Amino acid sequence: MLIDGHGRVVNYLRVSVTERCNFRCQYCMPEKPFSWVPKENLLSFEELFLFIKVAIDEGVNKIRITGGEPLLREDLDSFIKIIHDYKPDIDLALTTNGYLLPETAQRLKDAGLKRLNISLDTLKPETAHKIAQKDVLNKVLKGIDKALEVGLGVKINMVPLKGINDIEILDVMHYCMDRNIKIRFIEYMENRHASDAIKGMHGKEILEKVKEGHTIKALGREGASPSFNYKIENGYEFGLIDPHKHDFCESCNRIRLTAEGNLIPCLYFDEALSIAKAVKEGDIKGASEVLATVLRDKPKENRWSMDNLDEEDISARAFYETGG
Ligand code: SAM
Ligand code: SF4
Repeated sequence: MLIDGHGRVVNYLRVSVTERCNFRCQYCMPEKPFSWVPKENLLSFEELFLFIKVAIDEGVNKIRITGGEPLLREDLDSFIKIIHDYKPDIDLALTTNGYLLPETAQRLKDAGLKRLNISLDTLKPETAHKIAQKDVLNKVLKGIDKALEVGLGVKINMVPLKGINDIEILDVMHYCMDRNIKIRFIEYMENRHASDAIKGMHGKEILEKVKEGHTIKALGREGASPSFNYKIENGYEFGLIDPHKHDFCESCNRIRLTAEGNLIPCLYFDEALSIAKAVKEGDIKGASEVLATVLRDKPKENRWSMDNLDEEDISARAFYETGG
């Protein structure tokens, strides 16, 4: 069992397989980074898997593949199959913008993937274009249909933004309700890579919008899930991911690995240790030692919960690198 320096059990590893993306979401990557990480700096699937194996053997039982846009990485299904074949009962999931799902969903399912989180911030083509800076909605909606058709579990992530998609909170929720899919509203997390024009909504404001159409009952957090769950009058459940709330980090159970091999203890902070040397040398003990150090030093809580952050306190972590 993996336990961090604050006594929290860590059983969840998020693996970013690329920082590249086919969208330029305003809250994540409005500009393409000045230069991408050169392809030769990315860890191969074999190298990533060597670390994943160490993590699984030491107690990780939940793995999420993310990015950037993970479906841009070639042969992703073969990577998923390697993980699945090593431990078929592992909770193996993927987060995607959905754009490439029409052509990949079946292969992902066949490789052993169980669940997908798909980002859907709007049902209006022009708003989707505004957020992602590309005409994306039609393919994303087709991607969601395809994922459901092949039998993958689907959840939707929506980041409500003031003046952009805030008026669609109920519409996107109803879209999900009609398909019997859970929606999770994610509070916008301020970061230095996002567009200055973006203003997120606080969890309370998001709930007020839902209350315009429904009565809601708070259910609580589901284990170590970052999502606080609510139920509306007809039994439909939705989630709110509220990292600005003070108790958000109390049950944090996750660490993150980037495509270059940086092991990150907290989404907010810059600190990371590299496992690249260890996995390139096939050094299992070395990889395990890096894991132990990262867990020992995992911060107690993020700083999104602090009111009135100074400019220099805004997180420098890039969501497209860390994987959200
Ligand atoms: N490209 C994939 C996607 O968009 O689903 C996976 C990577 S993306 C970084 C993972 C999740 O992080 C997405 O649901 C996205 O909406 C969310 N995200 C990105 N930037 C964010 C921010 N500044 N605040 C809150 N959520 C953010
Ligand atoms: Fe790409 Fe996902 Fe970031 Fe949007 S949120 S730019 S889809 S990595």
